[in-house]
Amino acid sequence: MKKIAVLTSGGDSPGMNAAVRAAVRRAFYFGVQIYGVYHGYNGLIRGDIREMTLGSVGDIIHRGGTILYTARSEEFRTEEGQLKAVEQLRRHEIEGLIVIGGDGSFRGAQQLTKRGIPTIGVPGTIDNDIPCTDFTIGFDTALNTIVEAIDKIRDTATSHERTYIIEVMGRDAGDLALWAGLAAGAESIIIPEADQDMDDIIERLHAGHRRGKKHSIIIVAEGVGSATSYAEQIKARTGWETRVTVLGHIQRGGSPTAFDRMLASRMGAAAVDLLLEGKKDRMVGIQNNRIVDIDFDEALAQKHQLDLSVYQLARTLSI
Ligand code: ATP
Repeated sequence: MKKIAVLTSGGDSPGMNAAVRAAVRRAFYFGVQIYGVYHGYNGLIRGDIREMTLGSVGDIIHRGGTILYTARSEEFRTEEGQLKAVEQLRRHEIEGLIVIGGDGSFRGAQQLTKRGIPTIGVPGTIDNDIPCTDFTIGFDTALNTIVEAIDKIRDTATSHERTYIIEVMGRDAGDLALWAGLAAGAESIIIPEADQDMDDIIERLHAGHRRGKKHSIIIVAEGVGSATSYAEQIKARTGWETRVTVLGHIQRGGSPTAFDRMLASRMGAAAVDLLLEGKKDRMVGIQNNRIVDIDFDEALAQKHQLDLSVYQLARTLSI
């Protein structure tokens, strides 16, 4: 392969830039020309494709977001859109494509492979909801953002002796809520992967109050519903004042942590290596701190597994 390209797609995540940088620098290292596709699959269809230089990825390793921009593309879901995308790649003589994004972006990549363009996926999403990889790029940064926010909320929760219900992102996965809840010492963590009985939540709150706890923090994963409805139920059953914080998009931004920069650098470089080895239709992952690659079909047929032992641990530590 003499010419390859890289794009970012779906929701942005901190560390995507570090992955783009790694892919570009690795390609240069092997003497391969590399192009950046701007605005995800939309840009691919339009032909928003520019050659990258060593300098074009300078000074980005520490930046959140993605310099290539990202998008959700309805047109790319259609056969017509996919054919246009392939045509653009052929016009630039691009022989392989790296797609940094979530599982939806990987399904899109599979369509390109089927149409003759080899693709490799790099998992970039804060949700950590992709099967076959222990971590996705951006999860650690979002986790740290959430923990920092909870620590601040804890100060005011303690001062006012209030119950705070904090809603965090993660789509259908509870990883961000669980890890943040454990790391920040929340009283209860409500995630889609575990049944949370309201009686149990109330009993845990009462137990804390009985031993003189001044505050209570409950983390709600967005996948189980809105924090506001939990707050209303808790207020109705305890009579205590509750406050709701929905952290929202601050969880997506910010400078990537060292962990995410490392992960992105390793994965971005591995994606280039795989293309140059002639591999296609695979995603890069990390398992037990080793970079691995898995067939898209095999990975996407599975469901991401949250480690329920962490949930049990959090419960035993927040009695
Ligand atoms: P995140 O988890 O951060 O939302 P994602 O990659 O899962 O990221 P999606 O919106 O699901 O985000 O997918 C990104 C884009 O990938 C879509 O807008 C669409 O263009 C393309 N895509 C998704 N699924 C398919 C599919 N089955 N066929 C073709 N293209 C797809």
